[in-house]
Amino acid sequence: MSIICLGIEGTAHSFGAGVVSSDGHVLSNIWDMFSPEEGGIHPREASRHHSDIGPSVIRNAMEEASINNKDIDLVAFSRGPGLGPCLRTTATIARTLSLRLDVPLIGVNHCVAHIEIGCLESGFKDPVTVYVSGGNTQIIAYAGKRYRTFGETLDIAIGNMLDTFGREVGMRFPAGPQIEREASNATNYHQLPYSVKGMDLSYSGMLTAANRLVSEGVSLADACFSVQETAFGMLAEIAERAIAHTKKKELLLTGGVARNNRLTDILSGVAKRHNAAFHRVTPPLAGDQGAMIAWTGILQHEAGDRLSVADSSILPKWRTDEQDIVWRRS
Ligand code: AMP
Ligand code: MG
Repeated sequence: MSIICLGIEGTAHSFGAGVVSSDGHVLSNIWDMFSPEEGGIHPREASRHHSDIGPSVIRNAMEEASINNKDIDLVAFSRGPGLGPCLRTTATIARTLSLRLDVPLIGVNHCVAHIEIGCLESGFKDPVTVYVSGGNTQIIAYAGKRYRTFGETLDIAIGNMLDTFGREVGMRFPAGPQIEREASNATNYHQLPYSVKGMDLSYSGMLTAANRLVSEGVSLADACFSVQETAFGMLAEIAERAIAHTKKKELLLTGGVARNNRLTDILSGVAKRHNAAFHRVTPPLAGDQGAMIAWTGILQHEAGDRLSVADSSILPKWRTDEQDIVWRRS
C-alpha cells in the first residue's frame, strides 16, 4: 500500500509544503517566497515570514491534495544546509506535526532532495547533476553510497551572484528571471572574468566586473547577456569535464536557476556532445519546495532511516556528500 508524506521546506527565502505518495505522485506542492521590498534576504526576516505563513501553506497543501491529518503517514523536513533561523522555524513546525500526528519524522538534506526530485521526474538512474540555486552551485555525481561534489563555487552561488548584480542595477529579488529577459535584447558581449579552477569556479570577480560594466555605460541588456554567457560558460566547462570523467550517460539540471532557458540550451548541448540524456527539472519542481523533501523523505523512510525528535537538531552546514544514500542499491 502506498504511504503519504508531508514534506516541509524552509532553508532560505521560501517556505513550502508538498504532499507526495510513495508510488511517486506529487499530490500538491505549495510554496511562498519571501521577497523584501528592497535589499537582500535577512535570515531573521525570512524565518519570521516562514512562521507567519507556514500554517496556511501547510493547510493549503493538504487541501489541494485532498487529505486530512489521519492520511499523513510521515513528516519530512529540510534539516539543512541553510540559514539557521529559517531551518529552526521549519524544524519546529515539522517536529510539532510529527508529535501531534504521532507519525515518524525524517530529516532531509536539501541538496540531495533537489537531485532526487529530478530523478523522479526524469526517470534518471545515475545522472551527473548540475545544481544551481540562490545558495548553491554544485556539480554532483553518485559514487560509493554518497552524492559526491565534483565541483562547486569557491565563493558565492550563481543565483546569489545574479540576485546581487540585479539588486545593484535596481531589480527586485529574485533577479534571475529579469536578467534573462534583459539579456534577450542584447547586441554585444563584453568580456568578464572567466574563473574556473580545476573543477571549481568562482563568481565574485565577475560580479564586481559586471557592476563596473554598467557604471561605465554598457547597456543593461548587454551587461545581463555578458553575465549569463560568462557564468553559464564556466558551469558548462566543469559539467562537461564531470560527464567526460565519470562517463555517466545522464545530465540533470536542477535548482531555481534551472528555470533559465539559455542555461538549459547550453547544458543540453554538452549532454548531446557526450551522447548523454538531458533533463531540466520543470519550473514547479526546480526551486525550493516541499514536494522534493516529501519524496526524499519517502525514500529514506523506505530504506529504514529514522530520526527521533530529540536528535533532530538542524544542520546549517550539512554538505551534500555527508548524507549516506541508503536507498540506492549499487
Ligand atoms: P532556489 O534557491 O532554488 O529557490 O532558486 C532561486 C534562485 O533562482 C534565485 O537566485 C533566482 O534569481 C534564480 N532564478 C529563478 N529563475 C531564474 C531564471 N529564469 N534565470 C536565472 N536565475 C533564475
Ligand atoms: Mg535549493
